[in-house]
Amino acid sequence: MVAPKLEGGAERTCSIDGGLKTTMGKQAAGAPGEVGSASRAEDLNPFHIAQTQFDNAARYIPDISPGLAAFLKLPRRMIQVEFPIETAEGEVRNYIGYRCVHNRARGPGKGGIRYHPDVTADEVRALASWMTWKCAVLDVTFGGAKGGIICNPKRRTKDDLRKITRRFISELGDQIGPFTDVPAPDVNTNPETMAWIYDTYDMMHRGSNNLGVVTGKPVDIGGSFGRNEATSRGCLFCTQRALARGIVKGLNSVVGTDVVVQGYGNAGAIAAQLYADEGARIIAVSDSRGGIYSQNGLDPAAVLDHKRKTGSVLDYPGTKEVSNDEILTIPCDILVPAALENVIRGDNAHEVQAKVIAEAANGPTTPAADKILFERGIQVLPDILANAGGVTVSYFEWVQNNDYEQWDEDEVNLKMHVKMERATDAVIDKQREINGSLDELNARREKNGRDTSPLVPVDLRMAAYILAISRVAKVTLERGIWP
Ligand code: NAD
Repeated sequence: MVAPKLEGGAERTCSIDGGLKTTMGKQAAGAPGEVGSASRAEDLNPFHIAQTQFDNAARYIPDISPGLAAFLKLPRRMIQVEFPIETAEGEVRNYIGYRCVHNRARGPGKGGIRYHPDVTADEVRALASWMTWKCAVLDVTFGGAKGGIICNPKRRTKDDLRKITRRFISELGDQIGPFTDVPAPDVNTNPETMAWIYDTYDMMHRGSNNLGVVTGKPVDIGGSFGRNEATSRGCLFCTQRALARGIVKGLNSVVGTDVVVQGYGNAGAIAAQLYADEGARIIAVSDSRGGIYSQNGLDPAAVLDHKRKTGSVLDYPGTKEVSNDEILTIPCDILVPAALENVIRGDNAHEVQAKVIAEAANGPTTPAADKILFERGIQVLPDILANAGGVTVSYFEWVQNNDYEQWDEDEVNLKMHVKMERATDAVIDKQREINGSLDELNARREKNGRDTSPLVPVDLRMAAYILAISRVAKVTLERGIWP
């Protein structure tokens, strides 16, 4: 039988979880100990990483029962749909899309939709679980969800992308909704995509206020002022607060810092501009084709203009070209990964020369890298905190939609500032609390008779996880396990 035609020529194969995956995805990344290069010796499956992070953090929460931990670790629901569209060339092409709800204890599922040839079921599961913890860290009343379609948007026309979006949303049907699961933008999706999602859902649910079914919409269709910049602005607020709290000795603000940004899309390009506006010098940036470096500093707006005209940041005048690997090891104060997962790994973390890493991207740092960075004294502001400005303003958009309101941009930014500072403080305080009570925690673990390997000091990611898991566990028990 001839395999159906999938984007990028990928072929379908059955995976053990009963889903479908493609031969070109990164899901195949090796199991621990797999033979290969140093990086492949590390398990780079994002869902395995998310589960490892959960397991490591849960050890610090003595009151969480094994059954509850198992429930919180696994996604509630994973939907896979397959559908065709007729492309601009008149060809019928088939696509696979996923939507995963990881947890809804604290509110409706919430999370972006990604369009990328390397989307896999496990990547979507990982991103959905990170959303649960992120919403809990920020204390917004959402659970965690995520979606993705295996496609290469660079090879599709705008019309194709609209058809892909509409068909995907119609296939999901009532599995999304303003009070059940609310999508948002992610890699290669934007306010225009969100407008198509809203319109499709609204066509299927006439006669009610459906604006809250999706966030990140254009401002004139119920989008919130400040949403487009929110991920990057939140990352800046988090960095400013953490530096002011003294997490890096001798570096109390972003003023005068050298900043490197990997990824020049929504999160990266806006972050570069906002850090520069606050007095930082952006010395290197990159996109999928490579990076550029200038010790004198770059003008982020001019680089973005160049990227819009030429399709890449490369060849921006007066800069030196650097590879996507090199950019991560340039000496700087603040490194902002703002592209995809697994870029800082066990095989390159020892070469990172930043004082602090502010994760605008989801999952850029692997557990092996975290360990190395912690030992080297490099602070990591974890994704579930540092890039949470996006979901925080998505939450504000949803509140405005449900109340038929539109707030001023200043109001949105101020409210987000308060939430980001509060969450940053809570994570730093949790780290101090845990690291100051290891003896007591170890004694309790020994008494419980469970795994007795001693607990060691935690980094900020583990502190954020411990905070988030405790919050979701508490709400789950308050609601009571149904029935
Ligand atoms: P985007 O599609 O707007 O931009 C992605 C950028 O990454 C592009 O410039 C692309 O060229 C670049 N890129 C891809 N592969 C690369 C590589 N190997 N090296 C360097 N650059 C590479 O996507 P986005 O919305 O900016 O998302 C980026 C990251 O931020 C993702 O991890 C996403 O999950 C996370 N994030 C986004 C939001 C949001 O609201 N958009 C919110 C929270 C987190």
